[in-house]
Parts: sequence; structure tokens; C-alpha cells
Amino acid sequence: MDVRELLRFDGSLPDPRETPGVKGKEKARKETAALAPELTDLQERLFANGKLGDPRKVLLVLQGMDASGKDGTVKHVVGQVNPAGCRITSFGKPTKEELAHDFLWRITNALPAAGQIGVFNRSHYEDVLIVRVHDLVPRTVWSRRYARINAFEKRVAASGGSVVKVFLHISPEEQKQRLLDRLEDPTKHWKIGTADIPERHRWDDYQAAYLDALAKCSTDIAPWYVVPADRKWYRDWAVSNLLAETLRSLDLSWPTPSGVNLKGMKKELLAE
Ligand code: ATP
Ligand code: MG
Repeated sequence: MDVRELLRFDGSLPDPRETPGVKGKEKARKETAALAPELTDLQERLFANGKLGDPRKVLLVLQGMDASGKDGTVKHVVGQVNPAGCRITSFGKPTKEELAHDFLWRITNALPAAGQIGVFNRSHYEDVLIVRVHDLVPRTVWSRRYARINAFEKRVAASGGSVVKVFLHISPEEQKQRLLDRLEDPTKHWKIGTADIPERHRWDDYQAAYLDALAKCSTDIAPWYVVPADRKWYRDWAVSNLLAETLRSLDLSWPTPSGVNLKGMKKELLAE
């Protein structure tokens, strides 16, 4: 089974409660846990190759409505690998300095280096999502950004980046429940934003903006994957598999440094 094939955006959005590729929470949790050692191993190989001059890196882009589970995905999926090899960046409302630059400026500055797994919690897609829904720039400006995003991602891929874009697709009912949980749990109050309810009322505008972004920016070099995300166990299973499949496809062997005489060094050490 190829989860990338299963979840690749095909022009429409699935039911957020679906669980393509795995049936049942217990089985999914077991399979996700079983992937962890492989993910760790693959990430270490990527890192080792990066140290020795291999330009390859992975960029995982996470997008989704409020409470869709972006933070949970970072914690449970990315949390399975060595944090030393990861570069995680959350993109909130741009600062004054960021606004003074092109929208791709802060994104470019946060790209992973060779050997790293970069994770974007929200991303340049906000500039065709919230920016579009709230008319933060004129239509003539945001409507040109899709082509610019495609060109940007093409450059990332050309410099050795495997781009994995994940839309965590939740239902409005599930979001309502999660926001209610946040309001009722003092340990989650810090997550609540004053805009959360008004934003929720623009659900249809956001879905339209998402559909457009997915349709215009799902390319062979940087496809969009739609992960039905009402069930957290499925979300973790799906994103873990997407990451594992991407890393596997890099065919990462353990690198040996050139110009280092391993046999000679061993001999010298043993002769002490
Ligand atoms: P959660 O999903 O758990 O609520 P979050 O990602 O919403 O977490 P917050 O700090 O609450 O984190 O929100 C960040 C906010 O910044 C979002 O509302 C997002 O739409 C907004 N944002 C991100 N990028 C941009 C941008 N380029 N322009 C305007 N707003 C942006
Ligand atoms: Mg929020």
C-alpha cells in the first residue's frame, strides 16, 4: 500500500471521518508505533548524508483550520525522531518586519538545511488563505501568489528538498467539539484565541480558499495530501506513513567520508 497515492489530492475533499488504508484505532496505533524505529533510522541516515555533503532534506508543510491538529502532529509524529535533526517553525500573524518583506521572505529563512527535516506549522499558504478570506491584500496580489508558490516549491525541490504538504481536514462539528474542550479545560485555555469563533463563522470561505490552494498548487514535485483528521489516531498514522514513504524513497545508505583512511586509522589506534 502506498499512502501517498491513497491521500494525494484528487480535486475533491473526503469525509473527515474516513480512515483510508487502516481500520480501527487499535490497529492504527500499533502500526504507527511500529513505524517509529524506522523513522528514527531513516532520519539519522538523512542527517548523516547531509553532514557529508548530500544536499537532500525534507520539508513537511502542515496546514489546517484551528484545532485541526497541527500541534498534535508535530508532537506525536515529528516527536518520534531525533529533534536535533529537525527544524520546526510555526508561522503566525506576520510581524512588522516580516510584512515589510515579500511573503516568501520569512518562509525562505526557515527552510531546512541539508540533512534536516523541516516542519512548517502553517506556512506560505496562509498568504492565500487567511489573507484571501480577510482581504488583507487586494485580489490582484493574492491571486498571483499561487504561481509564485509553485515556482518557489520547484526551487526547493531542485535544491534537494522533498516537499510533503499535508492538509489536516476536519469537520466543523469536530472543530466545535475541540474548541469546546479547550474552553472547558484550564490546561488548554492558553490555546484559545479571540478570533477562533469569528473565524469559524467563515468556514465556507476557508474551505473555498483551501480548495483553490490545493487545486492550483498540487504539483508532481510538491503534491498536496489530504488527511481526514477528525480522528487523531488516523491523522498520526497517515502523516507517519507519508513521512516514512518519503524518506524511504530517498534510498538512504550510510555514508562513508571520502579522504578518510578508516583502515589506516584503525591500525594506528590498535598499535598504540
Ligand atoms: P491552533 O490551530 O492550535 O489554534 P494556530 O496555528 O492557530 O494554532 P495561533 O498562534 O493561534 O496558532 O494562530 C496563528 C494565526 O496567525 C492564525 O490565525 C493564522 O491564520 C495567522 N497567520 C499565519 N500566517 C499569516 C499571514 N501570512 N497573514 C495573516 N495571518 C497569518
Ligand atoms: Mg489558533
